[in-house]
Amino acid sequence: MKQTDQDHTHTLVLESRTSLPTDHGVFTTCAYTYQGVTHVAMLMGEPQRAEAPIVRLHSECLTGDALGSHRCDCGDQLDAALAAIAAAGTGILLYLRGHEGRGIGLAAKLRAYALQDQGMDTVDANRALGLPDDARDYTAAAEMLRDLDCTTVRLLSSNPAKAEALTQLGITVADRVVLPVLDRPENSHYLQTKRARMRHDPLAGEAGREGGAAALTVQEDTFPVYSTLAEHPEVVAQMAQSADGFIAARGGDAEFVSGEADRTHLHHLRAAVDAVLVGAGTVCADDPQLTVRAVHGQNPLRVVVDPHARIPVDSRVLQSPDAPTLWLVSAEAEVPSGLGGHVETVRLPDGGSAGLVDPAAVLAVVRERVSGSVLVEGGGKTVSSFLSAGLLDRLFLTVAPVLIGDGVPGIRFEGSPMMAEALRTPFRRYTFGEDICTEFVLSDAAKDHDSPPPSAQ
Ligand SMILES: [Zn+2]
Repeated sequence: MKQTDQDHTHTLVLESRTSLPTDHGVFTTCAYTYQGVTHVAMLMGEPQRAEAPIVRLHSECLTGDALGSHRCDCGDQLDAALAAIAAAGTGILLYLRGHEGRGIGLAAKLRAYALQDQGMDTVDANRALGLPDDARDYTAAAEMLRDLDCTTVRLLSSNPAKAEALTQLGITVADRVVLPVLDRPENSHYLQTKRARMRHDPLAGEAGREGGAAALTVQEDTFPVYSTLAEHPEVVAQMAQSADGFIAARGGDAEFVSGEADRTHLHHLRAAVDAVLVGAGTVCADDPQLTVRAVHGQNPLRVVVDPHARIPVDSRVLQSPDAPTLWLVSAEAEVPSGLGGHVETVRLPDGGSAGLVDPAAVLAVVRERVSGSVLVEGGGKTVSSFLSAGLLDRLFLTVAPVLIGDGVPGIRFEGSPMMAEALRTPFRRYTFGEDICTEFVLSDAAKDHDSPPPSAQ
């Protein structure tokens, strides 16, 4: 990083570089002065070494950022941007001062708010005051990115005008990514105006997203838990359910509850573990391959818990030799002969015959064969049985914005009669397109493997 000549107001001056511990982790913080205004760059990781680091150009908003105003979504955007950078481990937030009220200043912004109280929208209010719709200049931002050696970026913004401005200033915007920020009742009209009149991207789920920015999705190498699972043997579960808690419709149709980003996440998990385990019901209903296809990685051992040996002989786990299959059946179950060499049939210890499988006994059989992490992938009964047996280190539970009404239940366990005794654990939350994934960090071992630890509830 270079110290530039302080005599020229049109050159960028790096004033200081220090560290700032925040709710989202420790950021390296640089103060830059350009044309008499001091801006702040918040860095994490080594963005200059990334091909296209995520970058947020955050326009100063005293009311939204510091005073908690719900009139705009600036505070939520700031929080989501810092969280996204922390989750990625690498990225930059440029806090651009002098951008109040899209560049009209704090006093004029509050005057425009008063006009909006009388019924004008944000665009008409600015015009009634004789002010431009948007007066922001991004020259300082482009200069800061150049000084930070990041001239190709993935921009965190729902505003295409920001990407266009950066492009004109010589920064390559490789991608534009929308932050997962929800409207509030008080700012919904304001945000609708920005979508209708200022070309902002529509809400996720609204029609006409073509050409808009991609929602923030899981990037390979930027989701630290995948490497954690590859390095430490954990037992984790993954499940996608509707907002009312079902993994499939009444007839068993499960294509698809969650979106593509969640399914990519599932393939990342499969690639990180040594074994993937499902119940017989999942094989009968979905006939899954249980292989790694959406990402690079080795296929894990496929484990099917099937005490009554009821999965069809022509199911993919028994027919396709793409990965070894461990078929766990009861002592009495009748097993067909002539299965492929990739299938190993093992009789479960006592207790399996009643259909009541002891998850610990299942895990013991799996542990004789693999030493790495194990993914319990479905269905609802199997994941719930491992959860209530206390055998899971983590649970990734994705909830999709869909109501099924009735169907195949997701997570169900005995629970407790009192809310105070309900299961609460440290957690992280991710947005996978339109879906929200919550990672419950269940065991002390998983907490130890996390660095830095997730925020405790
Ligand atoms: Zn604001």
